[in-house]
Amino acid sequence: RPTTVLLVCGGAAGEHSVSCLTAAGVLGAMDHERYHVIPVGITTGGSWLRLSIEEVTAFRASGDELPSVDAIAQGHDEALLHRDGEDVLLATRQGSTLADPVRIDVAFALLHGPMGEDGTIQGLFELMRLRYVGCGVMASAVALDKDATHRMLLGAGLPMVPYTALSQADWTVSRRSSLDAIAALGLPVFVKPARGGSSVGISKVSVAEDLPAALDEAFTWGAKVIVEQGLENAREVECAVLQDPRQGLRTASVGEIVMEGTEFYDFTTKYLGNGKARMQVPADLTSDQAAEIDRLARRAFVALGCEGLARVDFFLTEKGRLLLNEVNTMPGFTEFSMYPYAWGQSGLAYADLIDLLIEQALQREAGPR
Ligand code: ATP
Ligand code: MG
Ligand code: MG
Ligand code: MG
Repeated sequence: RPTTVLLVCGGAAGEHSVSCLTAAGVLGAMDHERYHVIPVGITTGGSWLRLSIEEVTAFRASGDELPSVDAIAQGHDEALLHRDGEDVLLATRQGSTLADPVRIDVAFALLHGPMGEDGTIQGLFELMRLRYVGCGVMASAVALDKDATHRMLLGAGLPMVPYTALSQADWTVSRRSSLDAIAALGLPVFVKPARGGSSVGISKVSVAEDLPAALDEAFTWGAKVIVEQGLENAREVECAVLQDPRQGLRTASVGEIVMEGTEFYDFTTKYLGNGKARMQVPADLTSDQAAEIDRLARRAFVALGCEGLARVDFFLTEKGRLLLNEVNTMPGFTEFSMYPYAWGQSGLAYADLIDLLIEQALQREAGPR
């Protein structure tokens, strides 16, 4: 019998559309004789809706228009997970009754950012004793918080970009001391919401007068912000790590984001195809550099307690130093995103990668770990 996969997409506003694009890619690549896929879209408001396969595969970016679950929500029944003895079921709710329950073998949450890549949905799956693809609660929660990631990886002896963290309370109560803490980093700096992704809310600040506006903007995305020393002319290299159910931990060839004509890898450059960035796999590196990236990526994966997959991102500075930027536990996952692309260039096709992730999830014990 086919494996029933609960495929979840959409979610909180910041990376909602990116998640929809990812879901279209994954669904399009899956073998539908092997898998019975049940797509669920989460609206930006948090409602779970049972979608059709066709609705998900139709998610596309066209021009500035990005797909969203909210836009197709009308007429959809609310869906919810519940347990019936050994089985985890997804049912739609029509009025006050449950209809069409379907048994779920494994969940695959293709959600990026807060409320999905951060341990929240992973916790729900744990409570349901439902197996799921990818990292568990703690690794997801820590990796999605750039301040927590810095602390944990610094503790593990990994080389991180110098930074300072600010709470909204720090910033509101004492702008002066906040600005002093930042001044110690020099300029430029990168101001980022501590919990985010897809470059949403991030600014590069090169003149001190622009700092307050950048901080105000970052705080609109959450109550904690980090400010990092801005690395000038650093190369951006990324390492895709996979927990292969048969071979154990594997890494793909290192990938590089090669940019021209943009200050940094911002949202528009990432997703709206403005032609200012391309991916190069394998990156043009010495074998020592590639080996070091590989080693540090595996260490970061293990230090955070990641499972299944993660993309570990680095900067290679002008002076040749390697610094770890961040870990993404649900990296961009369309066929053209770095994680699957790097695996493709390393001999593992998109559909096979999806199979391995699901197989790895099915091997795990459902419930607390
Ligand atoms: P992702 O989509 O990979 O989850 P994110 O929103 O978590 O991204 P970062 O990767 O931390 O954000 O930063 C986004 C981009 O900003 C980087 O890819 C890089 O181009 C630039 N950037 C971030 N921090 C720095 C820094 N300290 N120095 C130079 N450039 C930086
Ligand atoms: Mg990130
Ligand atoms: Mg991310
Ligand atoms: Mg990043």
